[in-house]
Amino acid sequence: MTEKANIVVIGTGGTIAGQGKAANNTSAYVCSVLHIDDILGTIPHASALASLRAQQLLQTGSENFSNEHLLEIGKSVSRMLARDDVDGAVIAHGTDTIEETAYFLHLTLKSTKPVVVVGSMRPPSAMSSDAAVNLYDAIAVAAHPSSRGIGTLVVANNEIHSARDVMKGNSFKIEAFRSPYGPLGYVIEGQPRYYRHPSRAHTLATSWSIETLALLPRVDIVYAYGALEPEAVSAVVARTQGLIYAGTGNGNVAAHLIQALRDAVGRGVHVVRASRTGSGIVLRNGAQPDDAYGWLTVEDQIPSKARILLTLALTQTDDLQTLQTVFERY
Ligand code: GLU
Repeated sequence: MTEKANIVVIGTGGTIAGQGKAANNTSAYVCSVLHIDDILGTIPHASALASLRAQQLLQTGSENFSNEHLLEIGKSVSRMLARDDVDGAVIAHGTDTIEETAYFLHLTLKSTKPVVVVGSMRPPSAMSSDAAVNLYDAIAVAAHPSSRGIGTLVVANNEIHSARDVMKGNSFKIEAFRSPYGPLGYVIEGQPRYYRHPSRAHTLATSWSIETLALLPRVDIVYAYGALEPEAVSAVVARTQGLIYAGTGNGNVAAHLIQALRDAVGRGVHVVRASRTGSGIVLRNGAQPDDAYGWLTVEDQIPSKARILLTLALTQTDDLQTLQTVFERY
């Protein structure tokens, strides 16, 4: 018999740690109240998959997570993964910003050990809760050797997603997570099955290490609409180092906003032309003359993850060409 993997399960709050008054409270409940030990107590059969150790790191909704929280989670996971008696980690997390934390870990952890970020759309107290099955599946994925070396994963609804691709695409349904190119695989009865692997660089192949990251630069997102005024853009520009412009369609910029975004570059703020659509490519020098304006383009990443990427990139360079290659590499 092969030895069971040692998996550390880290609690940070979210719906997976939530509690409602009644079973039909699938949307109205209090988040981040159950201790990670209590959540694990609902899946005793998980001990057949791995030897489990629990740690309560945070206890708050992921909508509250600042850059400092990301650093705290990353450094804590990294410390755990460095131990010889830890084979992988599961992070129980709110689903609201699960894609951002997971992508941050995907780009900064220096380990091939599996890291799975997991949440649930319904608290353990609700009818048809996905908390127990998602946590069980996440442990199964983290404990399995086929999950090594493929970066940080997000497990939900019996699917295994790459942290690079996944996004929360629904506010209340259990089927809330999607990756534009599909999940990497499924989990069935405690068995992960992979059908494809990430092709973009992650973990060991990136130039960032969570161990050396300290203060992160400020990057903000502006969501575009026709009535958006230049003053609103300028107000953000005045207090940031990078601006993700979530433009309409393929990263379009309204004619009356072009000057404000060009002025941002003049003030030393990096402007990334992105799309508010949630998927697809923003083609460089396509809808706008990006080279001439000194703007960056996002390639295919959604604005919330483009923020993570530019934040990390700005810790190492200010050079426009180098910054652009970051969007094409990760
Ligand atoms: N406040 C929650 C969060 O941590 C709500 C969403 C959830 O966990 O499903 O993101």
